[in-house]
Amino acid sequence: MGSAVMQEYDLGVIGGGVHGCTAALFAARGGLRVALLERGPLCREASGVNAGTLTLQMTRLALIPYALRAHAMWASAPQWLGHDVGVVVCDGLSLAFTEAEAELLAFRATKRREAGAPIDLISGRAAMAVEPGLTDRALLAGHCRVDGFANAYLTGLAFRRALLGAGVAVMENRPVTSLAREERGFTALTPTGPVRFRRVLLAGGVWIEPMLRWLGVELPIKVLVNQLVVTERVRPVMRCVVGIANGLLSLKQYPHGTVVVGGGWQGEGDRERGGVALLPERVVGNLRLACHAIPALRGARMARAWAGLEAETADALPAAGPIPGIPDAYVCGSVHSGYTSGPYIARLVAEHILGREPALPLFPIDRLLPPRGTQSPEAA
Ligand SMILES: Cc1cc2nc3c(=O)[nH]c(=O)nc-3n(C[C@H](O)[C@H](O)[C@H](O)COP(=O)(O)OP(=O)(O)OC[C@H]3O[C@@H](n4cnc5c(N)ncnc54)[C@H](O)[C@@H]3O)c2cc1C
Repeated sequence: MGSAVMQEYDLGVIGGGVHGCTAALFAARGGLRVALLERGPLCREASGVNAGTLTLQMTRLALIPYALRAHAMWASAPQWLGHDVGVVVCDGLSLAFTEAEAELLAFRATKRREAGAPIDLISGRAAMAVEPGLTDRALLAGHCRVDGFANAYLTGLAFRRALLGAGVAVMENRPVTSLAREERGFTALTPTGPVRFRRVLLAGGVWIEPMLRWLGVELPIKVLVNQLVVTERVRPVMRCVVGIANGLLSLKQYPHGTVVVGGGWQGEGDRERGGVALLPERVVGNLRLACHAIPALRGARMARAWAGLEAETADALPAAGPIPGIPDAYVCGSVHSGYTSGPYIARLVAEHILGREPALPLFPIDRLLPPRGTQSPEAA
């Protein structure tokens, strides 16, 4: 900002993934003047390279009510976002191949059904009627009618247009190097000049940990390095989202024919360097599992594989709410299956910032922090 009087925004959102973008959008629509600062292009980290599965079967139990509402948001993206992110709503199957997996599946499905997810347990044979491409080796399947997937690559494009339309000052390629607390508000330092705001929302994915450190708050955020594989375009081989009970597979075919294979197989990388290496034996393990579930995939060639960083707190529940001890500062992220649930949770955080009562509880980070007084002095 080159002018003599620096503009002050009502809210500065740092981090332009699905959480930061959604919160910025709803805060702006609620009447705040919002600046969104992203060090690269919008949604090019986890929110742009993920598998796009909109799943209840792999979502943490406590997040099912959030994921159900978020699924409805994704399914109606053209209405609230104004742009298409290639959402396909379809059935989902979570498979069990062994007795132990069947036991795990039955437990998980029952708990999720109690929490409101429409999941039925069906036999392997009945699952083949739902998904004709399926192997005949499954013993049991969790069948969820509320499943589907999006094209994560389109997320940033869709949000950029929506945010600009809502009047958000979208500052891409604008890394924040530090954040200073002032008597009234915050100043974010960036290589191209400072940006001032009255309130701040940290939405930095795995980088929430260093962001919170700017405010003297130490919150360990675990970094998962998830590998993904996409095949060449193949003839239609499946029509559902397919996973397995232990979570090590997620599989679906996009309308243009490619099949995305994931399941959280870990590659190498870290917060500083990103995903730097795929572990070939794990790529092969993941693909073997995919071919076991959908045998027609045996003829498909792998086109590309990559790794992205997913954030997780110590209890695997979100960091979403006010930052204790720092008035007007908030955090939003570390949501398990965060692409699925992210829009709804970030919308709740925006509601809170707007002074409205969120429809479902937030996930304040107090539970994850050491008792007050033991943090560094800035946080006191
Ligand atoms: C490979 C992979 C597959 C996945 N598959 C699924 C799936 O199928 N379904 C599902 O529901 N979830 C999935 N997830 C999880 C999901 O992608 C994430 O939970 C979600 O996208 C996180 O969104 P976010 O906005 O919190 O973080 P991010 O999308 O990581 O956004 C954080 C942003 O902060 C920016 N940033 C960092 N530091 C700074 C700074 N100093 N200044 C400015 N900006 C900064 C980053 O550039 C980044 O854009 C997957 C994750 C990965 C990695």
